Amino acid sequence: MRTIDHWIAGAPARGVSGRTAPVWQPATGVPQAEVPLGGTAEVNDAVAAALKAYDTWSGMSLTRRVRVLFAFRDLLERHEDELARIVAAEHGKTIDDARGEVVRGREVVDFACGIPHLLKGGYSPQVSTGVDSHSLREPVGVCAGITPFNFPVMVPLWMHPIAIACGNTFVLKPSERDPSASMRVAELYAEAGLPEGVFNVVHGDKTVVDALLDHPDVAAVSFVGSTPVAEYVYGRGTAAGKRVQALGGAKNHAVVLPDADLDDTVRQIASAAFGSAGQRCMALSAVVAVGDVADPLVDRLAAAARSVRVGPADDPRSEMGPLISTAARDRVVDLVGQGVTAGARLVVDGREAHPGDGFFVGPCLFDHVTPDHPIYQEEIFGPVLVVLRAATFEDAIALVNGSPYGNGTALFTSSGEAARRYERQVGVGMIGINVPIPVPMAYYSFGGWKASLFGDTHVHGAEGVAFYTRGKVVTSRWPRPQTAERVSYRFPQA
Ligand code: NAD
Repeated sequence: MRTIDHWIAGAPARGVSGRTAPVWQPATGVPQAEVPLGGTAEVNDAVAAALKAYDTWSGMSLTRRVRVLFAFRDLLERHEDELARIVAAEHGKTIDDARGEVVRGREVVDFACGIPHLLKGGYSPQVSTGVDSHSLREPVGVCAGITPFNFPVMVPLWMHPIAIACGNTFVLKPSERDPSASMRVAELYAEAGLPEGVFNVVHGDKTVVDALLDHPDVAAVSFVGSTPVAEYVYGRGTAAGKRVQALGGAKNHAVVLPDADLDDTVRQIASAAFGSAGQRCMALSAVVAVGDVADPLVDRLAAAARSVRVGPADDPRSEMGPLISTAARDRVVDLVGQGVTAGARLVVDGREAHPGDGFFVGPCLFDHVTPDHPIYQEEIFGPVLVVLRAATFEDAIALVNGSPYGNGTALFTSSGEAARRYERQVGVGMIGINVPIPVPMAYYSFGGWKASLFGDTHVHGAEGVAFYTRGKVVTSRWPRPQTAERVSYRFPQA
């Protein structure tokens, strides 16, 4: 059985905790590796290495820092296929889908390569007579990232390239369910010339998370995962005096108006609901059908759901892979049962879609779901699409705004006026107009509202740079040495 190491101070490290967890092959249900579950000792070692590297790295010229990032970016491109295969083998998503996450993650490195421009401060000469002002942004120190299983390459890449480009050092705690990609990323950083200790990986569970949240030398924490853990991480991290951004779960609505192009809409929604087996924080998991579009929409969505080819990641014919674990599969199957009990109509039942020992559940489609149903209230995080019916566009907007989550949403329409109204009236962080998964490009910032985000800043883009830096404003005055001025006791005015 392959054993995975931590990555501390520029080299693999075995760790001392003695605790491990299996990493499964989701398509077969067989364990393929063992991941160490670190403890306080491993966290202390990694943070010490990061702190030691901080002085040198933060003091290094921008030109040299950026050179490393460009080299890292090229390596990510060269190893795109390899990284995609590592992700697919442990996560279970198709290789093509995994390649997509590597590319989207790399775009954050593209953005981080432009850090000299992003770190430029402002300068104002003569703000008062003989006085100038300028601003600068400095790194914050050792930063930590805690990430979920569903994008083991992309989500960490939302964080560490920007943190590192800004002059910080980083400790990543990836998901223990698909940890190998982070180790390959660490090796690529080393190959790119990143000094040891700037990027570290400690594997583990809650024990490692708590040790990072409590460690006095960790200055900032970025978290992405489920809402209860996001809220916990935000509370414990900020109580320890750190800045924290914690992105949580979601229930993303697609509102379909009667004037939408139905064929296109169904293609987009099916892909966003069932792609990656619904294990995306931006998956469309609830459709709000407005008016008389509901019946034809449900018919076509049912046909689309039935046609999805479910299979293992390494079969090129597969369009959708398994779920991440037995527990995830059992939970999804249980929630589908609860939907039936609550009275919703199960139009497509994927519970028996793929017999065998893998963690498969096929696409499921529910109609006549109401806001009190558990399948609407819970983030299912599986290939289950629920359809609610609304009489009017206003009712649909009220439904979306009634959700405790506010990550993403999409409106399908051919009316510019409706689109404009929607984007102004919904309380959601990322909005798509005829775009099912509106993930912002790396140079914008990613994040939701309400229970989908705890903290004030979204990730990557300008807000990412703001999170990983803190500002200073310098006011300076250089009087001529020979000038003998009288002391002035009034507040300066000009
Ligand atoms: P999770 O919350 O179970 O785990 C996330 C991280 O927290 C992991 O590293 C895990 O080891 C750690 N963790 C788990 N339980 C913990 C605890 N009790 N205390 C401290 N740390 C703990 O999430 P997951 O199942 O890996 O990922 C799926 C979730 O992530 C979904 O809810 C999804 O919506 C969310 N997600 C959100 C975004 C976003 O941008 N908002 C992006 C991707 C995933």
